[in-house]
Amino acid sequence: MPRVFRRLIAVAAILSLVSPAHAWGPQGHRISTRIAMARLTPKAAGAIRELLNPGDTLVDVCNWADHEGHDVVPDSAPWHYVNVPLDAPRYSAKYCGERGCVVSKIKEFRKILADPKAPRKERQRALLFLVHFVEDVHQPLHVGDNRDRGGNNTQVQFAGKGTNLHRVWDSDILHHVGGNDNVWVQRLTPLLTPEHVKAWSSGSVEEWADESLIAARKAYMWPPGSRTPMPSGTILGNDYVRMADPIVRERLAQAGVRLANELNGIFK
Ligand SMILES: [Zn+2]
Repeated sequence: MPRVFRRLIAVAAILSLVSPAHAWGPQGHRISTRIAMARLTPKAAGAIRELLNPGDTLVDVCNWADHEGHDVVPDSAPWHYVNVPLDAPRYSAKYCGERGCVVSKIKEFRKILADPKAPRKERQRALLFLVHFVEDVHQPLHVGDNRDRGGNNTQVQFAGKGTNLHRVWDSDILHHVGGNDNVWVQRLTPLLTPEHVKAWSSGSVEEWADESLIAARKAYMWPPGSRTPMPSGTILGNDYVRMADPIVRERLAQAGVRLANELNGIFK
């Protein structure tokens, strides 16, 4: 391999180690977005089609905020999460930094999207951010924090590989369980019962964050019964997957249902 390539690969490897994870991995976002799209009213689907660039679907743009979004709005990284201490009783606005957080940004972008007088470009951007952030707030470690950047600084062994706790929840569990987007959507479909959908369809953004906080406590307090969050170096195996997988599934399904509700409500 030419030396320049080797050097590029080395740089990429270092960057991937130091750059924080921002979100459910791309697959998690696509899965929730697919669930949402299947639940859109014709009116909402039409309005979204008109707002997106020709040929784009919501699935195509649901990861925009993790990529181009950072170039378009360079200081938007804090918008993807909120660090709520694990022992806090619930989310509070005091945890939302000056530059905003995932909770405040969902509320801000839903207003812009619903404002027919806002410029088209601005509404389009609001849609891209809103889709992504409704999903991010459902990732437990985008809310629960042990002063370790939502698990980014807690190095663990998962399924025999070195990773960090945040990444375990963003993507490692999804990849470990396996399956393409279709398989995942089929897996989650049985969760979309009328009872679940009804229960999930009330509640504020703050309550969605509180649910993530409760799930994050389970994610950190391992093995079960631990009173303190796991330290770096913890080895996570199949018993951890058995605890986490149902939570991941429920959060992805809830995000999809709630995203559809948001969009159907905005484009009435
Ligand atoms: Zn994100």
